[in-house]
Amino acid sequence: MRIPFRRRPSLPPLAVLLLNSGGPDSRIAGALIKEDWGPDTAIVSLYLDFNPRNGKRAEPAARRTARLLGAREHHSLAFPHQGAWWFENRSGYWANPYLALWVHVVGAQYALHRGIEHVVSGFRGDASGAEFPELLQKLLVMTGPGNDRERCPILHLPLAPLAPSYEVTVAEAKRLSVGLADTWSCNRYPSDGTCKKCRARERLGLPVS
Ligand SMILES: [Zn+2]
Repeated sequence: MRIPFRRRPSLPPLAVLLLNSGGPDSRIAGALIKEDWGPDTAIVSLYLDFNPRNGKRAEPAARRTARLLGAREHHSLAFPHQGAWWFENRSGYWANPYLALWVHVVGAQYALHRGIEHVVSGFRGDASGAEFPELLQKLLVMTGPGNDRERCPILHLPLAPLAPSYEVTVAEAKRLSVGLADTWSCNRYPSDGTCKKCRARERLGLPVS
């Protein structure tokens, strides 16, 4: 169902960077790291704080996910210059037009900076298109440092093949024995429980703010 993690046989992963939004998908992707690479795999958790208003709820949730996974480190990177290149959408959510691309490119750059070979995110195909992971990996290789393919972080989006069904997400969480109640995800500010993510949480019996 999901894309298996790819490995370079000669280089066991010393550390894996988890792009951690504090939502259910990030937590499941983190649990999959442990399942596929073993419980001792060092996870470096990174929260990209581009949305300070919602981040007040999301960042603590990301920290809880990092703690639950036994991550070696958790970091929050702030991007304060919203007025310059971010826009506020109709839901009051700060974003940029290439958010899916941006998140992974920043993550890859952070991984390079830290000498981390693997980047994992909980990005789902319904948000980006099924071909997104492969295209993104090609883009990273093509535009990486000096076109050095060996230095390009390897991207893993294990949830990309999942159907746009939160029931599938919950089934995967159950299989992995991962609780989702203290995750947080909302696409609206102020959060009023009406956005797509809140409605999905409601259907799944997860707390909605
Ligand atoms: Zn919401």
